[in-house]
Amino acid sequence: MAQGIEVAVPAAGRGELARRLRSLFGFRAFRPGQERAVRAALDGRDTLVVMPTGSGKSLCFQLPALALPGATIVVSPLIALMKDQTESLKSRGFEAIAVSSALSAAERAEAERRIQDGFSGFIYTTPEQLASADFRALLRGARIDLFVVDEAHCVSQWGHDFRPEYLALGSVIEDLGRPTVLAMTATATADVVEDVLRQLHIPDAEIVHTGFYRPNLLLSAFSTGGADDKIERLAAFLERDEATCGIVYSATVKGVGEIAGRLAEKGLSVASYHGRMRKAERDENQDRFMGGEIPIMVATNAFGMGIDKPDVRFVVHAHPPGTIESFYQEFGRAGRDGAPARCILLHHDEDWKLHNFFQAGRYPSGEDLVNAHHALKRFAGEPPTFEELIPISPLPRTKLKTSLNFFRSQGVVKEDLAGRMHLIRDDLTRDDLMRMVRSYEAKDERDRMNLQRIIDYAAMRSCRWSALLDYFGDEEHTETCGRCDNCGAA
Ligand code: ADP
Ligand code: MG
Repeated sequence: MAQGIEVAVPAAGRGELARRLRSLFGFRAFRPGQERAVRAALDGRDTLVVMPTGSGKSLCFQLPALALPGATIVVSPLIALMKDQTESLKSRGFEAIAVSSALSAAERAEAERRIQDGFSGFIYTTPEQLASADFRALLRGARIDLFVVDEAHCVSQWGHDFRPEYLALGSVIEDLGRPTVLAMTATATADVVEDVLRQLHIPDAEIVHTGFYRPNLLLSAFSTGGADDKIERLAAFLERDEATCGIVYSATVKGVGEIAGRLAEKGLSVASYHGRMRKAERDENQDRFMGGEIPIMVATNAFGMGIDKPDVRFVVHAHPPGTIESFYQEFGRAGRDGAPARCILLHHDEDWKLHNFFQAGRYPSGEDLVNAHHALKRFAGEPPTFEELIPISPLPRTKLKTSLNFFRSQGVVKEDLAGRMHLIRDDLTRDDLMRMVRSYEAKDERDRMNLQRIIDYAAMRSCRWSALLDYFGDEEHTETCGRCDNCGAA
């Protein structure tokens, strides 16, 4: 690992850890929960760290990783996030590599060579990479002391960013000889916590959970008229707070365009960001916002994971998000420096209708699955691509897509690199398929409940912080916060 750092002292005393915190990271003191997490990792205990966004989860694995002699694997959901973190580590003189689909053949060969030669730094990678037996064989040859799952709610089917590839991580951990596991997340609902522990095969993990209360965040919500009224309100707020910087979240790509356009017409300086923008443009917009050149970012939720800008003074949700978890995570990007910041939710009747519409099409029905399975079976020779399946399936495109996604997540179908769908389970009967879909009905039900919670939050007349903290199961918090519109602040 980095030169000049002594090797592991698991029993390091208080002073020793604090000294390393200063010398390696330049921080004066641990934040709540950090020291406990660092110690647990150094002692080789599997640990789930639940801390709000912006509270310093990275340090909880980076500090022990630097103290342990072997390498640390960090599973990260986004290539951009991996890049930020590896670059930040390298700039501090630590060794870090990112292994993802973004590497060129030469870069990949170089990374593999370094791992083979006994690399002992940070190996950032994705669940998709770890699904490869060759990559795991390479890692088995290295000494892996820590296995970190960042944004671990992705492991859970109840987590808001559920990705089926994450389900294999438990077996990956076994396959790598069970290094100490550290899972990091900002999502603390009991369902997610339970699921993460189960999926990662760490039932007895220590749980380090700091509270969710962030008293510097002033919460408010407004019911508005239609889209125009919304933009007028938003503009009035932004004009008043002209000097400060913040993020406006829109639920759709179209919304981003509309809002950004209208605000620009009003003479406000805005950048925009969404998943359908060209990458170069997106990156440039992000840089201009992060660098302080443009104070307002209008974006979909594609913007933000790992965004670490301390002085974001407001986050406005121009449309309600689908879950309280994503809402908290998104508004939590405000006020990381601890100074007051506003978190505003704007909502309108049409927004709820839109949500219901999306929800209705999200999961396949039993009949959809039977149809899709039948279509796949009809291909005797080379497995079909999605496009090849469309003409022979009675299902509309979106339903076929959700059905295939479902099949992939359940291991019924495997998609190869050419996009061909290999039917692994051609033995499933109609009854089997009907049974499978029932588990998803539970998820659908869950989504509806999540949405209802946001609706309740939007409409509530009592303390907003109390409601959120109740939801997250925080026990220690005061009755009313004095930090939301309903408590007379904000
Ligand atoms: P999270 O992953 O929990 O969202 P990060 O790990 O990205 O948060 O950390 C958020 C910010 O807090 C970073 O700028 C980081 O440098 C800073 N930070 C973390 N720990 C400390 C500490 N003990 N003292 C001061 N700043 C810290
Ligand atoms: Mg993080």
